Amino acid sequence: MTRPVVCTTVEQMRDTLDTHVSRGVSSVGLFPTMGALHEGHLRIARTARDENDLVVVSVFVNPLQFGPNEDFDSYPRQLERDIAALADCGVDVVFAPSTEQMYPGGVPVISVTSGRAGSLLEGATRPGHFDGALTVVNKLFMIIQPGPGIAFRAYFGEKDAQQLLLMQRMVRDFNHRVHIRPVPIVRSDEGLALSSRNQYLSADDAAHALVLNRTLRAVAAGELTLEQGRSAIDGEPGVRLDYLVTVDPDTLAETSPRAGALALAAAWVGPTRLIDNMKI
Ligand code: AMP
Repeated sequence: MTRPVVCTTVEQMRDTLDTHVSRGVSSVGLFPTMGALHEGHLRIARTARDENDLVVVSVFVNPLQFGPNEDFDSYPRQLERDIAALADCGVDVVFAPSTEQMYPGGVPVISVTSGRAGSLLEGATRPGHFDGALTVVNKLFMIIQPGPGIAFRAYFGEKDAQQLLLMQRMVRDFNHRVHIRPVPIVRSDEGLALSSRNQYLSADDAAHALVLNRTLRAVAAGELTLEQGRSAIDGEPGVRLDYLVTVDPDTLAETSPRAGALALAAAWVGPTRLIDNMKI
């Protein structure tokens, strides 16, 4: 497979996009990532490949979405391996800017705030996380948006359900000319939602982490109440529950575990924080 064009500056990215637009592409797919790509990411890249003339994958570990005590410094970075994997998926362009390119002069003065929906659940434990994620994706939309007459799609995994909802909200609120394409969660054979952070798990941790998926399935099937589910997660060796809730998938308002609701879970497995969710 051909190596994708790798753009490391905003100018290169825009020039590359303009070249493809002038050649007459009719659709552009953008898939924003933080790299350390696994099969879940690659599945999304292949979906974008199937649906668009031009596919851009961004790889940027966004400092704005990490809290001061989080894993920004240790987050896995493996750009060359990612580029090779994306080449196999037929991706055309990898946008891998430096922090200085994305935030010249440091933290941006004008940024996106995520409001109440961004302060719940993930946002309660990770204050500022969604403001950071929305701010960088807002910039990616401004940089990569291909202009009138060309379909623009942006791909987000359902694994990060709250993030997906907030991205959809931002597109509505800012009138971005982009169509958000949600992609289902990709799991290991045992059921663990694939995550770049799974690299941090020891073999024991990985086995204990399965409690998340197991419990979500039991809650979704009505075999466990939420309270029982919380005890199951917290009772697993090495696992500490953050939250297990069922919410309205459109508003994130807590609801009973009924059909149509979304069950969401977050827990620390050893030092690693994992999330998962399941539709009921
Ligand atoms: P990240 O690089 O972890 O920020 O993730 C980039 C995108 O890939 C986000 O939209 C995630 O929701 C999505 N993603 C990550 N892991 C998975 C997975 N196991 N299944 C589906 N989508 C995923």
